[in-house]
Amino acid sequence: MGIIEQEIRKFEKRTCEEDFIFYQAMEEVLRSIKPLLESDDIYRRHAILERLVVPDRIVKFKVAWLNDTNEIEINTGFRVQFNNALGPYKGGLRFHPTVNEGVLKFLGFEQIFKNALTGLPIGGAKGGSDFDPKGKSNFEVMKFCSAFMTELHKYIGPRVDVPAGDIGVGSREIGYLFGEYKKITSKYEGVLTGKPFMFGGSLMRPEATGYGVVYFTEAMLELENKEPLAGKVCCVSGAGNVALHTIEKLFDVGAVPVTCSDSRGSIYDRRGLDLKLLKEIKEIRRASLEEYIKYHPEAEYTPVDEYPDGGHAVWEVPCYAAFPCATQNELTEIDAQNLIQNGVVSVSEGANMPCTPEAINAFLSNDICFAPAKAANAGGVAVSEFEMSQNAAMARWGYAKVDEKLRETMRQICKRVALTAKDYGVAGNYIDGANIASFKKVADAMIHEGI
Ligand code: NDP
Repeated sequence: MGIIEQEIRKFEKRTCEEDFIFYQAMEEVLRSIKPLLESDDIYRRHAILERLVVPDRIVKFKVAWLNDTNEIEINTGFRVQFNNALGPYKGGLRFHPTVNEGVLKFLGFEQIFKNALTGLPIGGAKGGSDFDPKGKSNFEVMKFCSAFMTELHKYIGPRVDVPAGDIGVGSREIGYLFGEYKKITSKYEGVLTGKPFMFGGSLMRPEATGYGVVYFTEAMLELENKEPLAGKVCCVSGAGNVALHTIEKLFDVGAVPVTCSDSRGSIYDRRGLDLKLLKEIKEIRRASLEEYIKYHPEAEYTPVDEYPDGGHAVWEVPCYAAFPCATQNELTEIDAQNLIQNGVVSVSEGANMPCTPEAINAFLSNDICFAPAKAANAGGVAVSEFEMSQNAAMARWGYAKVDEKLRETMRQICKRVALTAKDYGVAGNYIDGANIASFKKVADAMIHEGI
């Protein structure tokens, strides 16, 4: 049995059902870094694998809060501080009923490598709660955020751990969390990123992840000698922060995004999506995408339950480039086969690990350019770090400066990943390139910092 298999078996034994998704992410990284481990046994001698797959600490706490009808509700809060070899822990907070320790371990583990790829001084973490902001009043969201921060504030700080947003946590939630932190500690400091601009947020943080995905894809297409996105039909899934800003940047570069989806169904508008209307429906009214066809009856709406076999309507539409931007494991092998048959040239992960391992294998064996999440969606955390720098210096950067730094960061990540893949004999494999480059960076820092 090879060393990778041995390590995987060892961790498999410890894996409980909740940890399944964490195990999926870990297995991908371990398999990718095989050429690096074989080229130098320094990582084995320092037990880097064993140390990296266990979080530094997991904080789990009760969140009790009062709803609008004066009943007490109880949720569970978490912060997984995974690794701070390169800088303070950094990673988003997710509020969604599916949140549990396993999901946050998977996200925190991925975050270590994503943050390392940016080249910025930040470690990896993730947190959140099984609280569902959907259907709650603003007042209830505020009450929950205050109760959540009453516990969380003990474990975070600008040089310790700096959370940001993720699914279910946008600038409204970050604002309430920041307000409570300030009240408890009497400190006005950059302890959270993704804040509204009026109190220390960076310009372009809301746009950063989606814009970054498109910048990365353009850089990858250029390196792989493929045609750019201008004039090309693109399919996007999701209709949240990442999806809407991916769609926005696709229009900016002259592409034609024609699909999007939410948890209830998907839209296909062959003439190009109406982005203004999408923002109105999802960001302002927080309603279902089904509303779209009231204004555009010529578009098609497909409810999720029409696809019980694991396929999804968005990926049946022929396109040049696909951008899964909703959630983990949303793009299955059936979806991948549909995209390949319809001639897709590139797939870029806007969400974290949205493609199943079987889907990824299908893309790689058909020579599709594949941009993995930890590289392609690193723009959000990069601009979060820019926000930390601005807060520390009490400075404000203009839109053009942030945009230029974001674009350059994404181009650099893309080049670094492509070069590493080439150096380790897997040219064109951006998954292996991203995993090897980021693992090496974190592991070397851990070795220098001692046990
Ligand atoms: P949001 O909460 O803003 O949006 C998520 C969107 O996905 C919603 O429209 C939601 O639908 C939809 N959705 C959820 N589940 C499904 C499903 N099974 N099928 C189709 N659509 C679904 O989250 P974000 O846009 O912030 O995050 C999306 C992904 O990107 C996550 O994986 C996140 O971890 C990742 N990410 C986010 C970053 C950021 O800066 N925000 C940074 C890096 C990664 P509905 O409206 O019905 O709830």
